[in-house]
Amino acid sequence: MTILPSSAARPARRADTDVDVVVIGGGVNGVGVARDASQRGLKVALFERNDLAFGASGNSSGMIHGGLRYLTSDPHVTENSCRDSGHIQAIAPHLLFRIPFLVPFEDARHGRILYTLADGFFEAYDKYQPLKRGKPHARLSPDELRRLEPGLHGDLVGGFSFDEWGIDGARLCIANAVDAIERGAKVYVGHTVERVERREDTGEVVAVRYRDRVTGEGGRLRTSTVVNATGAWSPITASLAGLPAASSRVRPGKGVHVVFDRRLTNYAIMARTIDGRQIFLEPWQNMSVIGTTDDDFYGDLDQVRATSEEVRYLVQGIARVFPQIHEARAIGTYAGVRPTLYAYGPTEDALSREHQIIDHAAHGAPGLYSMIGGKLASFRLFAQEMTDVLARRFDLGARCVTHTTALPGGDRPVDALALSRRMEIDAVAARRLVYRHGSRAL
Ligand SMILES: Cc1cc2nc3c(=O)[nH]c(=O)nc-3n(C[C@H](O)[C@H](O)[C@H](O)COP(=O)(O)OP(=O)(O)OC[C@H]3O[C@@H](n4cnc5c(N)ncnc54)[C@H](O)[C@@H]3O)c2cc1C
Repeated sequence: MTILPSSAARPARRADTDVDVVVIGGGVNGVGVARDASQRGLKVALFERNDLAFGASGNSSGMIHGGLRYLTSDPHVTENSCRDSGHIQAIAPHLLFRIPFLVPFEDARHGRILYTLADGFFEAYDKYQPLKRGKPHARLSPDELRRLEPGLHGDLVGGFSFDEWGIDGARLCIANAVDAIERGAKVYVGHTVERVERREDTGEVVAVRYRDRVTGEGGRLRTSTVVNATGAWSPITASLAGLPAASSRVRPGKGVHVVFDRRLTNYAIMARTIDGRQIFLEPWQNMSVIGTTDDDFYGDLDQVRATSEEVRYLVQGIARVFPQIHEARAIGTYAGVRPTLYAYGPTEDALSREHQIIDHAAHGAPGLYSMIGGKLASFRLFAQEMTDVLARRFDLGARCVTHTTALPGGDRPVDALALSRRMEIDAVAARRLVYRHGSRAL
């Protein structure tokens, strides 16, 4: 299902530029824009200073979810995420897997009242589930909960099941980048953008200067338009264009995960930390993952690590409902920094997960845009909104088709067992290949 842009759709090239658009950042938002813009006929170059998905996109909880917890504060975010989750399932079905959750309720103070209130809350979430092919929630008695998940501990009043989807964020980034490349984009991995050059008189963007981190070689690429998709690095990137860092302000929020060597449960389980935050234990491919924290981050964005205190905080929270976690073998951690929209005052968990496009013409830098905030689950929509801005700038008529055009490998289902027989490889290896590459595993 490859749709190449017709030459008629291409905007008039400016003779003094090498590419129409430079995207800085190879996270999900950057590769999403590179894909959409290339598909609509723009000549795109993307620079990623590390590897694709090095930042938040490769270190998230990997849920293509509706964001249950934003339902009361940001229902708009929940609806957008659910709708885009449906689109992502349609274009990359091989990359998604269902994550059924259990939410046990302790028979503590106000336990029964909270349980009844939560039922109403899940009922509200059910309205969005059809957008992402999710099943409605179910009320479960303590016995039913323990039958489904024998390791559940504590005096329970009951619980719920509800439905989410998981994805490998790094594979999602790679699929978008491959598609962009196949539509003509150039993707420079391991290349840092060091400066965004602007005209002295008008402030307009004219070029980027970059450096290959392996060879040390520098280069210059002329362009009229730069998209800063560098997530938590956005303020630093704005300063590369001579703008104040505050022109692209985020409130960086660190989140860590702990990885265990195998699947410990049948279902993902929600639990609460000592300070009342929601965390989870989820089966993840052939492992299990606990996540996540959300703490203001003031450190070096290139050196984000989980601390032993953070690990103990998460394990303590899960142990309250699933004590066997203490016997399980933790094999690693990973951590990332959310590029959350800036606000002074709210606690980290209460911050909005909305996304925002900043047009730096307002700061005297026409042609420079920053994408901040957002979620993995709504990256496609965010990229569409950014590319709509670019399409208007280049006077392009082409409409977005990223929600109906399959990502590489997502065009048809593949029978992993047939592949294993044909290639004479282990069935597990064949399933893994099909998960990662879809129809391109053939
Ligand atoms: C712990 C955690 C859990 C999360 N869980 C979920 C979840 O379950 N579901 C969900 O929907 N969302 C989740 N999110 C949010 C989601 O991951 C982010 O909103 C999204 O990945 C942000 O993508 P991005 O492309 O804007 O930024 P990033 O993925 O951070 O990408 C920015 C990239 O820019 C590059 N860069 C920086 N400076 C330069 C430069 N000068 N030159 C070239 N490249 C540069 C960096 O190397 C980096 O790769 C989570 C985030 C975190 C941290």
